[in-house]
Amino acid sequence: MKRKISIGILLTVLVIAGIRMSGSAQFAVMTKKAERAEYTVCIDSGHGGNDPGKIGVAGTKEKEVNLTIALKLKKHLERQNIRVIMTRTDDRNLADANATNEKISDMKQRVAKMNSEQPDAVISIHQNSYTDSSVKGAQVFYYEGSKEGKMLAELLQKSLIGNVDPQNHRVAKANSDYYILKNTSAPTVIVECGFLSNPEEESLLISAAYQEKLVEALQKGICAYLVEH
Ligand SMILES: [Zn+2]
Repeated sequence: MKRKISIGILLTVLVIAGIRMSGSAQFAVMTKKAERAEYTVCIDSGHGGNDPGKIGVAGTKEKEVNLTIALKLKKHLERQNIRVIMTRTDDRNLADANATNEKISDMKQRVAKMNSEQPDAVISIHQNSYTDSSVKGAQVFYYEGSKEGKMLAELLQKSLIGNVDPQNHRVAKANSDYYILKNTSAPTVIVECGFLSNPEEESLLISAAYQEKLVEALQKGICAYLVEH
């Protein structure tokens, strides 16, 4: 009887040790994965060059805010050992020099770059605008029907609300029209960081402190997705 009990205890200990070992092994794999920079994220900075994107009430050009935020996000992700591909790193779009339609050429080249290295996720940075200047708040879009895209968008939306603006009641939204959402192979989201048509939000979007908060929230959301997916 005594012996049976001690075997029972030994088995229990072994099972617990086994669970703990597999847990730590999993952790080691994740750490190794991160060390080898196995995750790749493509950051797309919307617009550029002749295409300024939306113009803010005080004259802010969307293309400039997009690029500043995208470059900051690149640094944050690289600090997490994530490999980053950028669609652009300066003030130009990706259109062919002799393209008859600059916008179409730009979009095609962007998508080609987004698909080129099979990233784990594509984050396209944009700023919004609306006729009603009271409208504000960050919102994340994903391709309708993409389960992974939806998961990524929802994690980013949650992080943006929790870490940047708890007053923001927007939800991640499905879209079936946006060219890049339709044509990328990786889970892709468009992050509209805020509204340049709202005076307060425009001034926040160009402040370094607010950009830092945005980027930290995006980085947390991206990391949460990479670990979960
Ligand atoms: Zn845009």
